[in-house]
Amino acid sequence: MIIQAQDVGWVEVICGPMFSGKTEELIRRLRRATYARQRVQIFKPAIDDRYAEASIVSHNQTELPSISVSSIEEMWEHLDPKTKVVGIDEVQFLPKGTVEICETLANRGCRVVVAGLDRDYLAQPFGEMPTLLSIAEYVTKLSAICVRCGNPAHYSYRLAGDNQQVLVGATDQYEARCRSCYYSLQQD
Ligand code: ADP
Ligand code: ZN
Repeated sequence: MIIQAQDVGWVEVICGPMFSGKTEELIRRLRRATYARQRVQIFKPAIDDRYAEASIVSHNQTELPSISVSSIEEMWEHLDPKTKVVGIDEVQFLPKGTVEICETLANRGCRVVVAGLDRDYLAQPFGEMPTLLSIAEYVTKLSAICVRCGNPAHYSYRLAGDNQQVLVGATDQYEARCRSCYYSLQQD
């Protein structure tokens, strides 16, 4: 990827719908940082306990140890000043203040890599993601495969009949759909 001088921080965002490989990509980048012997810390919102309390896990079961936090204050408490790379998964679930902590860390020379949904199941911008996308130096927008037609999918379609914005789940509750299948098959 891009080579930058040491001690210069920046923010990377990995976004896309569910099943697009955001966690896989986050894990890949963070693993590479550990191979380079950089001090890495990984956080995830406590709300996301789908697979494991103490790790980030992708839908294909790759995982890395992480710290679950339920507030920004908690994240500050766990942050080690020697950390060079900070990873956050499911960043859209973190409360207000996420943008600020990412900016502060990057300004201090950290590489900040965050992954999360850019839109919710209603296709509306999710949490602080819109601002994160605008402040990030590097943005990667991934796509999944539409389970209805096989085209690239950018939408997370909710199968269950619940209408809260936050409903943590996987294949039983959501499916990846392309624009056409998302809007034309709303009743399925
Ligand atoms: P995300 O963090 O974006 O939800 P993950 O990294 O957790 O994605 O999982 C990506 C993996 O999900 C893929 O490698 C694949 O094994 C699996 N997967 C399940 N359904 C789909 C789909 N419709 N399109 C692409 N990958 C899928
Ligand atoms: Zn489709």
